Amino acid sequence: MNTVARPRATKGPASQMSIQLKSAPKRRPLSDIKEIAVNASGMLIDVRESMLAPHPRKHPPVFTTTQVAELCHLDRQRMHYLSRTEPDLPQGTLRHSRSREFTLQETRVWIDRVAPYVKRPEGVLGKKIAIGNFKGGVSKTTTAMTLAQGLSLFGRKVLLVDLDPQASLTALNGILADSEVTDEQTVLPLIYGDQTDLEYAVQGTYWDGIHLIPASAALFGAEFFLPFKQSKDQSFQFWNVLNKGLDPLLEYYDVVIIDTPPALSYLTINAFMAADGLIVPTPPSALDYASSTQFWNLFADLSESMQQVAPALQKSFDFIHVLLAKVDQSQAATPIVRDWINKTYEGLVLPIEIPTTAVTQSAAAEFGTVYDISRYQGSLKTYQRAREAYDRFSEIVDQQLVSLWQAEQEGE
Ligand code: ADP
Ligand code: MG
Repeated sequence: MNTVARPRATKGPASQMSIQLKSAPKRRPLSDIKEIAVNASGMLIDVRESMLAPHPRKHPPVFTTTQVAELCHLDRQRMHYLSRTEPDLPQGTLRHSRSREFTLQETRVWIDRVAPYVKRPEGVLGKKIAIGNFKGGVSKTTTAMTLAQGLSLFGRKVLLVDLDPQASLTALNGILADSEVTDEQTVLPLIYGDQTDLEYAVQGTYWDGIHLIPASAALFGAEFFLPFKQSKDQSFQFWNVLNKGLDPLLEYYDVVIIDTPPALSYLTINAFMAADGLIVPTPPSALDYASSTQFWNLFADLSESMQQVAPALQKSFDFIHVLLAKVDQSQAATPIVRDWINKTYEGLVLPIEIPTTAVTQSAAAEFGTVYDISRYQGSLKTYQRAREAYDRFSEIVDQQLVSLWQAEQEGE
């Protein structure tokens, strides 16, 4: 009996740890890295496939009558009245509990027809917004996606441009960059000068009202090509390629949202130089605050050197906003760092903050945002708090777009 009991007693996690620590390190030649990478990519594809399968992987949410009414600023009675009297408004589908359900597309028809939002005046172009911060993990990509979704629910036509070789925004749209995006579908042909505008790269997404130019790891190529071309051709404007490529698309889209990599790369410079508006998500944590100051310093250096390279360059932004993001109320440091941010970036900080939320952290929703959920299963309060923050953020940005459009129309 004793001999059986002893080995069992040593079978805890601690003993496993000590076995690992005692094992000798294994030498790995560089050629092993390839094998690790192949395994990792294969595994990632499997995991994503199983989470997001079947095709099309992502489905937009559905909306109840109450939700459609809210999005259109109608009371339910008025909505019922319009439903009866306006035959081309979508009727939705009757569900078993005798309630109606509307698809995203149907909901957007309602918003387009009856919501009280000012439309972009004819002849006024759409606006470009870049989301930037040289630090990773501050919620740039989440901000880009939720802003696109939020603005689409104000009836806007949105184009998302993924400029990060890590392609997280592409993944949030249910597209696997590793296996489903060719170089030709990204901004690369424009960068390489094989195309003069970006129309070739636009694809529809699972979300009505959002189109996407996807990214892939091949975007790293731009970091070698752009400086190389500049060195060969002094008249080339390496910073202006994206701007020119987006120009012909601005008649169709109300807003173009550009997600950038967490680095001052040549693509990031292109995004900033193309952008009418810049949004810098900044979580109120001490480390993120510290790196945000580096962001502004590097950005200032960049602006100075751009002035030297191109003295004729007249660049200004319609707006620059710092967005307090991933705000964790339970952290003792949050109010202190929020205070630093408000003092440092006075006049730039938006009057809304995005709370940390576990809503999109469950494995199944990992490749989604709060807007992707039709009926939230967890704590409704947490969900609503996050959803309201994102809605309010989109609303502020939308109001700015409208006032910029109106100013442009009057200036014409
Ligand atoms: P970035 O693009 O700046 O690297 P991401 O948008 O990819 O940042 O976000 C980094 C991580 O933080 C992701 O796992 C994302 O799901 C998570 N995240 C983003 N916003 C929130 C939020 N409000 N609450 C909780 N987690 C968030
Ligand atoms: Mg990102």
